[in-house]
Amino acid sequence: MYLKTYLNYRNFLMGYKMDIVKAKNVLYEYIRRDDEGEVIGITTAVDHVNMDIKQGDFIAILGHNGSGKSTLAKHFNAILVPEEGTVIVDGVDTSEEDKVWDIRQNAGMVFQNPDNQIIGQVVEEDVGFGPENIGVPTEEIWERVEKSLKSVGMYEYRKNSPNKLSGGQKQRISIAGVLAMKPKCIILDEPTAMLDPKGRKEVLSAVHELNKKEGVTVILITHYMEEVIDADKVFVMDAGKVVMQGTPRQVFTLVDDLKSLRLDVPQVTLLAWELKKRGINLPDGILTSQELVDELTKLY
Ligand code: ADP
Ligand code: MG
Repeated sequence: MYLKTYLNYRNFLMGYKMDIVKAKNVLYEYIRRDDEGEVIGITTAVDHVNMDIKQGDFIAILGHNGSGKSTLAKHFNAILVPEEGTVIVDGVDTSEEDKVWDIRQNAGMVFQNPDNQIIGQVVEEDVGFGPENIGVPTEEIWERVEKSLKSVGMYEYRKNSPNKLSGGQKQRISIAGVLAMKPKCIILDEPTAMLDPKGRKEVLSAVHELNKKEGVTVILITHYMEEVIDADKVFVMDAGKVVMQGTPRQVFTLVDDLKSLRLDVPQVTLLAWELKKRGINLPDGILTSQELVDELTKLY
């Protein structure tokens, strides 16, 4: 926490923009056409979304399938540009075509399936691809590869073949590949969806480390509520819109609203909520079993 405050303050003193990603009134539609090219349907995937994300924050975006999370995320590194509104990444408008590569370097993306993201035959080569492509000098590439692999806890696997690694390990290699580009911001689109619980934990703790120790801004898209608890801020999407935002505690207090959005709340939060409904005097928005135990101990 102190380090983050310090990094934010340092960035402020150095004159960096405090907003790393700024989405203003973003609208994006998918247009479906038949074989003749006639429009047969329009899906408004992102519907006038506003989002300000500060440098160094850990942000979570929640929402059930089809709520527009991935479409929005693709705007954050200029894979898509808005039809209406603007997206500014580190001070650069994503619609500036000649800035696309700067934007992608600043805002790296990690996707759901690690197998589609790893191209190298050897872990360290894979992680070095990005910097090599943008012409980073060889010696610096190796420094970056080493540092990135260490920060996701995969350095000892640097000589391995990625094929033989577990899903969680592969996903951490993908993250290292993004880190080697020295991004200010990393966007992870359901990075744990295909992983077992152990892999999910590995990836989550690696991402938290980066945020805490390196001050990298994290935008985590997930539908696992447990992964959201430690975020600085949560945005909830439904039908292309941001329908809730706040701290995890603020959001998870609204159990009924979340249920109506077809979202779950963390199991402990739900348990506390059920107990409260049955007349036990508990505060709203309990997030961890420790908190629940503490509150119950106070009562009995
Ligand atoms: P999420 O990531 O929250 O599941 P998406 O951004 O993938 O949501 O999808 C939002 C909406 O846009 C959904 O209705 C989905 O069916 C539609 N959609 C997504 N990708 C495409 C595409 N390539 N072509 C047409 N419609 C799409
Ligand atoms: Mg998605």
